[in-house]
Amino acid sequence: QTPLLEVRNLQTGFKIDKQYYNAVEGVSFTVDRKQIVGIVGESGCGKSVMSLSIMHLLPKGIGKVRGGEILFEGTDIVGYNEKKMNNIRGKDISMIFQEPMTSLNPVFTIGYQISEVLLNHQDITKNEARAKAVTLLKNVGIPRADQIVDEYPHQLSGGMRQRVMIAMAIACQPKLLIADEPTTALDVTVQAQILDLLKNIQEVNDMSIMLITHDLGVVAEICDVVLVMYAGKIVERATVEDLFENPQHPYTQLLMQAIPKMEEEKERLATIEGLVPSVKDMPEVGCRFANRCPKAMPECMQITPRLEDTKGGHEVACLLYEESWPREERVGAR
Ligand code: SF4
Ligand code: MG
Repeated sequence: QTPLLEVRNLQTGFKIDKQYYNAVEGVSFTVDRKQIVGIVGESGCGKSVMSLSIMHLLPKGIGKVRGGEILFEGTDIVGYNEKKMNNIRGKDISMIFQEPMTSLNPVFTIGYQISEVLLNHQDITKNEARAKAVTLLKNVGIPRADQIVDEYPHQLSGGMRQRVMIAMAIACQPKLLIADEPTTALDVTVQAQILDLLKNIQEVNDMSIMLITHDLGVVAEICDVVLVMYAGKIVERATVEDLFENPQHPYTQLLMQAIPKMEEEKERLATIEGLVPSVKDMPEVGCRFANRCPKAMPECMQITPRLEDTKGGHEVACLLYEESWPREERVGAR
């Protein structure tokens, strides 16, 4: 069976001073049906750029897919025009963001905004859409849904607004939901409730989720498979169990140490020394993590690590695991 989403060797560039630099550099992965795939990394790692590439929401004239394929149910959508993408967005693929206030329109009621999505993609009347909106609000756990439907976004708490965004996103029962830091702006208790809700909706609707986060703690809650991204590349890929049992890439190991403890303030999240290199200063060869890696070796500056299977589907791009590479790859890389 064809995977729901297959991204092949994606290269997304940003124009700086008339020149393109890749913020996503040769990323490949699949999202299977009913699967929750976590994409983890610090901000600036290319996670959001990747999801914006899939949705055709890159800033116009600045961001651009420069290579690779994005296969949705086997069809490459990279070349799709705005009209074709409008048919897909909100219907087959939906997206939710960190701060619902920026994606909800403050001047329209909740019910109006959910109805708009339904009326865009379905052949129903305004009254039917409104009734559906109430049901959707109930399904995402909003109390007094028949009243909330006539309220405005600012009348709701952050957690309730995120529930409204989720209701809008699943209104047309998309096959894929891309959730970009859906719980980052929320406090720990509400965060857990929203993650439960996403998991629940995924099961009920047989939907797949691509969950983008900087927080491995969030990934542990609901993901099946995890991709760790650093500086535009995937550096580790594993099932969530394998990743937590045996994190292999030094970057992943540091992210593990940065998982905030429940009792700690979220703001006190431990950080990793140094910065992700900017797209303009990406080294041509060598490991992109070398300047921050506690385990870096001299050859890390000369050899570009490739993402390779270490054992049983657990993949890592790091020279510490070079002995597990196929022989030709070793010779080729050197
Ligand atoms: Fe660290 Fe070298 Fe591995 Fe890169 S390749 S993560 S610098 S040990
Ligand atoms: Mg982001």
